[in-house]
Amino acid sequence: MTPESDLRRAPARPVARSERLFARGRAVTPGGVNSPVRAFNAVGGTPRFVASAEGPWLTDVDGNTYVDLICSWGPMLLGHQHPEVMAAINAAVARGTSYGTPTEGEVALVEEIVARTPVERLRLVSSGTEATMSAIRLARGFTGRDLVVKFAGCYHGHVDSLLASAGSGLTTFAIPGTPGVPESSTALTLVLPYNDPAAVRAAFAEHGDRIACLITEAAPGNMGVVPPTTVDGAGFNAFLAETCRAHGALFISDEVMTGFRVSRSGQWGTDGAHEGWAPDLMTFGKVMGGGLPAAAFGGRADVMSALAPDGPVYQAGTLSGNPVATAAGLATLQAATDDVYAHLDAVADTLRAAVADTFSAAGLPHVIQSTGSMFSVFLTPDAAPVTDFAGAQRTDVAAYGALFHSMLDQGVHLPPSAYEAWFVSAAHDDRAVQVVLDALPAAAEAAARAATTPGEN
Ligand SMILES: *Cc1c(COP(=O)(O)O)cnc(C)c1O
Repeated sequence: MTPESDLRRAPARPVARSERLFARGRAVTPGGVNSPVRAFNAVGGTPRFVASAEGPWLTDVDGNTYVDLICSWGPMLLGHQHPEVMAAINAAVARGTSYGTPTEGEVALVEEIVARTPVERLRLVSSGTEATMSAIRLARGFTGRDLVVKFAGCYHGHVDSLLASAGSGLTTFAIPGTPGVPESSTALTLVLPYNDPAAVRAAFAEHGDRIACLITEAAPGNMGVVPPTTVDGAGFNAFLAETCRAHGALFISDEVMTGFRVSRSGQWGTDGAHEGWAPDLMTFGKVMGGGLPAAAFGGRADVMSALAPDGPVYQAGTLSGNPVATAAGLATLQAATDDVYAHLDAVADTLRAAVADTFSAAGLPHVIQSTGSMFSVFLTPDAAPVTDFAGAQRTDVAAYGALFHSMLDQGVHLPPSAYEAWFVSAAHDDRAVQVVLDALPAAAEAAARAATTPGEN
């Protein structure tokens, strides 16, 4: 674990080894990283190359330690090297790493997820992207329709048809969000503003009989945390489910980030279970892999039975249901007891309160938004609640960069982007939390100094 002396190290931490590795990486890999946000482009500076991690701590190749508030972008619900998860992984590795045949572990993991969520049948895949891509193919195959509705600011992995930006009007088709996606891929996608029931009603009124599915993050976390609002007394997700049902479209709830993190059953357990509706399809990833590549999509038995080999919709994967990944995922879900969720909530409460106090004291306008223990801090000039992507984009990126680097210098690794959730784990103990609390006042002041003065943007 972390020597106390490391935590008191002077702010300017050595990064020479990370710098050398970053240079080597950039020579052979685009941006030196294998997923863009890791490159620190949004905050500047050199990404820390991590040598090891334990509990709530990351240790980089220069020997610096950090409290980890990324948690691998969500998966590490229990913290790093949780003993039961490590034991399950080591036992699985000792039996071989991949067979290409069915295993008991797959059945057990799927049973665990079916028991916790409204899905009746589930198929395992290896990434969240694969899960959402497959769910959309299945929805199209099942309904015999082509159109897909999504929300601006919701991220569902790098599926071509979902890397789309809103077109010129609310009910016009989307344009590619990146080069490399043909217009023909997004010409069947409608992108709507989140939390906007009028836009949803208009899209379904115009195109309802051609819409195969609507996909949404169960509670968006990829534009920062933007909780679903209430429509006519019901939750936004319930409204979406009802709208889809009325038009014969499928409702896909993407719980890759929220699933098994915001509660035992994910966002569904916090806003859906008591309203008596279920998504037609759901997607999962991150936590359910326990830090290894595993994801899944599932839902109604009649819809899922359209999938090969029972039905005509093709989907497959060489490493799907990998025995090591399923062992890590099952051990993680089994160790995620009610006490774990209570601890996550308590840690998040402490951090949120400290952020509110220190940012207010520094005169830094902010708004903190959460779903369960997942939260994010928007540095918007008027501190108004953020309900959609346009609102999220008002966050002060320069101020966030200053906050990020001050925290990093003080031994706290925030996500290197202003639009990400902050993640805690069951391993974030009093000592780790104290490091964050000690770092916040100076970081808030640094952010306040860097903030764009109101009116300037
Ligand atoms: C991370 C994420 C994905 C993509 O998962 P990958 O495993 O990175 O492909 C999809 N949907 C949501 C909501 C996510 O947060």
